[in-house]
Amino acid sequence: MQQIIIIGSGPAGFTAAIYAARAGLKPLLFASSVGIGGELMNTTEVENFPGFPEGIQGPELMQRMQEQAEKFGTEVVYDDITEVDFSGDVKRVTAGDGTVHEALTVIYATGSAYRKIGLADEERLSGHGVSWCATCDGFFFREKTIAVVGGGDSAMEEATFLTRFAEKVYVIHRRNELKASKIMQQRAFDNEKIEFVWDSEVAAIHGESEVEGVTLRSTVDGSERELAIQGLFVAIGNDPRTHLVHGKLDLTEEGTIAVQGRSAQTSVPGVFAAGDVTDPSYRQAITAAASGTIAALDAEHFLAARASQDAELATA
Ligand code: NAP
Repeated sequence: MQQIIIIGSGPAGFTAAIYAARAGLKPLLFASSVGIGGELMNTTEVENFPGFPEGIQGPELMQRMQEQAEKFGTEVVYDDITEVDFSGDVKRVTAGDGTVHEALTVIYATGSAYRKIGLADEERLSGHGVSWCATCDGFFFREKTIAVVGGGDSAMEEATFLTRFAEKVYVIHRRNELKASKIMQQRAFDNEKIEFVWDSEVAAIHGESEVEGVTLRSTVDGSERELAIQGLFVAIGNDPRTHLVHGKLDLTEEGTIAVQGRSAQTSVPGVFAAGDVTDPSYRQAITAAASGTIAALDAEHFLAARASQDAELATA
């Protein structure tokens, strides 16, 4: 039986692990079977994580967090959690290999998944011109004309990054002003390879075996036009990964896991949540890391309170 199981290997999961390990709790951290490190693994330069004035590559930052967590005694398991049972005092989680692991506390830090536009052809052409990750797939679009959908920081970052490979990058945004931070906007505006397509949404994606174009629909008057492109990068935000805890933990109206006040306490005692899975607003690496800290400290206090209760019962 573990004191603490952490599910997730982004900044929230690894920061929780660093704190829990330093508190002597020997955390067991499930890092996923394929995608260890979370969303920062798909990022290039991280410029806003304090302590790195020159910037740091996302994957390197995650590797360092993992090293730090392991240095203090975190055990990392490269497997997914497929089922959770939070109904009793002892929490049970089932790993992809079928093993059931037990713990007195769980920190749930599963992050978020790329949002999809919701078109049938988006799935069909996924990996054949439709992508959610510029750093993973940008290389395949050398000298091509491509488009990025979205108006936030991710869309600006992806569009700017993709100009390293592509000949031209359209940014398709449903409004006529961006949501992205000013510095990211300006970087995109200053880039000659980027052209903005305002007040437009993607109504259809075309192509037999590879993306050949999209139908754009005006969000102002509904008129449609065709745009020939060979790649479509979707960067319209993320949705919290909560599918394992539906009906087991309370969720907020925004679909994130509900936590009490500024704590990481979920609706089930002994289960704590941290990072993007709890955060509809800020969603930064540093805020995820901070909430991982809170979750680890809350779990530590919970375990200490439980241990002193048990001791009182034993002497009564
Ligand atoms: P976001 O900030 O939620 O922006 C999503 C964008 O996609 C918005 O412009 C939104 O349009 C648009 N959108 C949403 N649903 C859509 C749909 N169904 N069809 C078309 N467009 C749609 O998401 P994000 O850009 O992924 O950023 C998430 C968080 O990560 C943010 O807090 C961001 O600051 C952070 N981030 C930071 C950095 C960095 O600092 N280097 C880099 C990447 C991300 P509207 O504007 O009309 O709502």
